[in-house]
Amino acid sequence: DTVFELDRVGVDYPTPAGTVTGLHDVSLAVPRSGITVFAGPSGSGKSTLLRVLGLFERPARGTLRFDGVDTGALRHAGRRALRREHLGLVFQNPSENLLDYLSVADNLRAAAQAARRGCEPERILEQLGLGGTGEWAVPALSGGQQQRLAFGCALARGSSVILADEPTSQLDEASADLVLDTLRYLAEQDFAVLVASHDDRLVDLGTRIARLRGGRLEGVEQR
Ligand code: ADP
Ligand code: ADP
Repeated sequence: DTVFELDRVGVDYPTPAGTVTGLHDVSLAVPRSGITVFAGPSGSGKSTLLRVLGLFERPARGTLRFDGVDTGALRHAGRRALRREHLGLVFQNPSENLLDYLSVADNLRAAAQAARRGCEPERILEQLGLGGTGEWAVPALSGGQQQRLAFGCALARGSSVILADEPTSQLDEASADLVLDTLRYLAEQDFAVLVASHDDRLVDLGTRIARLRGGRLEGVEQR
């Protein structure tokens, strides 16, 4: 069961100094099960690839299929509907994922509402080891707990695919542990988990490691 299929996907960025190629001819099939890690040094194309998979960025070349659907054939509204229904994104900074002026539970409710779904915040918080924090302000949570809540927002949205961009890079080791546990938990619950990271501990968690360099896919290692 393949969730994403990329065939010679290329991404360009126009800059004042000329075109920068973010991804070169990336071909890859991502199975739904397990944890796929996109590894590689800074500037290798990890975030670009996640933005493409999250349907935030349109490839300049090649095809991207999501659940068998050719996303290049979709208009803006179609891409947005797929994103809303299936894809949960978690970025590296908790502040990009959460609304600080809402309580913990209201962040989950807002995420569910954006996806037009109902929500039981307490159930999601229990699942993620955040039980009892529903009425807290977001800044009262540790960085790791805030990232857990960001994954909770993806659950509240009803996402079946979780895409996380360097989710531990802003965290100390103890907080990062909370995120590693959460990724393991989500994979056990049959979510497709895709993560970009150069954190060795996170890379070790991968059941499939796709290594990028200079916007090219160097190889895929199965564990
Ligand atoms: P990584 O996530 O591995 O650090 P990125 O996907 O951010 O890599 O970057 C891949 C390449 O694309 C780099 O050369 C980067 O400078 C370039 N790039 C990424 N985003 C932009 C952008 N918005 N505008 C111009 N160039 C970009
Ligand atoms: P958009 O405004 O991007 O077309 P929505 O109206 O569905 O999509 O999204 C409302 C809010 O949810 C926006 O702030 C957006 O950044 C965020 N969002 C959209 N899609 C996702 C996603 N798949 N995962 C996490 N947050 C998302």
